[in-house]
Amino acid sequence: MLVTAGRVVTAPGRPIIENGAVLIAGDGTIGDVGPDPAVSARHPHVRKVSFPDSTMLPGLINAHVHLAFEATADPVAALRRGDHPVIRETITSHARELLDAGITTVRDLGDRDGLVGQVRDEIAAGTRAGPRVLSAFAPLTSPQGHCWFLGGEVSGEQQMRSAVSRLADSGADVIKVMAGGGRLTPKAAPVWQSQFTLAEVRAAVDAAHAAGLPVAAHAHGTDTMALCAEVGVDTIEHGGWLTGPTADPRCYDPRSDIADLIAARDIAVCPTRSRDWKAWPPEAGLDGLLERLSWMRSRGIRLIAGTDAGVGSGKYDDLVEALTLYEAAGWSTSEALATATTTAAAALGLGHEIGELTAGYSADVLVVDGSPLDDLEALRDVRCVISGGRLHSLPPAATA
Ligand SMILES: [Zn+2]
Repeated sequence: MLVTAGRVVTAPGRPIIENGAVLIAGDGTIGDVGPDPAVSARHPHVRKVSFPDSTMLPGLINAHVHLAFEATADPVAALRRGDHPVIRETITSHARELLDAGITTVRDLGDRDGLVGQVRDEIAAGTRAGPRVLSAFAPLTSPQGHCWFLGGEVSGEQQMRSAVSRLADSGADVIKVMAGGGRLTPKAAPVWQSQFTLAEVRAAVDAAHAAGLPVAAHAHGTDTMALCAEVGVDTIEHGGWLTGPTADPRCYDPRSDIADLIAARDIAVCPTRSRDWKAWPPEAGLDGLLERLSWMRSRGIRLIAGTDAGVGSGKYDDLVEALTLYEAAGWSTSEALATATTTAAAALGLGHEIGELTAGYSADVLVVDGSPLDDLEALRDVRCVISGGRLHSLPPAATA
């Protein structure tokens, strides 16, 4: 199949190709890309799908989702009960929603009983619609700690190591460590505190790296972020620079020495806090958040887009908000787009497979109306989604 569009953004920062075309090869990769009619001429007998007034770009990456969470006031009710049929239904419908929105890769950072892994495999086999899924399975957490009900309770270095090797054997793509407390589990450590010692997190990181897996560390607090930077996790999730002793959103402690270590170790930060940001009340602290995002970038930290989709109520997923938030913090539209394409791909260890429209890369393609590099909101006007070379049937409302 040959897809042509009025404008082709092969990767953020590269020159836009006017009237470009992408050849989707039979093996699900991009076979050719460039200006038309040259590409069409090279592949004369291939079925052509044309979007003359639209923009084609790489499929988007959401680096932090929870397919199994319910996006309701109590997003983990079925997970706590261990209600497999309900959880599976939640996962599969969220997977479809994500693909409808042009998201062709997600990193799932926590479910239970390997259910996301099953759906991941069905999607990969082509029997179910959804984005490519990188699954962490159950996050490692302290006894009765943050999200303990997902089944990942561990204590001590030895248990850390065995849990990592069990997850690796079960087929996890990434190890998630709840290094600090969280909001979903009221009796666990407060958000700004660590749940594990440095030695425990180091044991998990060393075991994961020995198994060839990256580590995503949940860390809201400054001290927890310091610990994660020290032991060399691969990504820091949330990264809120929170400090105690209260959960007052104004208690922040962004420390330059820690930021510099995070940057030096090339640890990407996925802030996840963007939902409905344009409608936040003044006390929600938008100005401070924008300042911290911009400050992290100025210290050389790579930031990537993730929404924690599934946590909290409202629309399941809205990656565009994460990008417009970066724009509000001073990123150009192209730099913001990179947080969900090239930069995210590199941070997830897939920089040579996804995130750009380049021959040999996975054929993950998004076509939208309008020009997202002029206005990121155009990313909502989805016309066509191809994931791993498979053309996705959009819901009727989107194609009308
Ligand atoms: Zn999360």
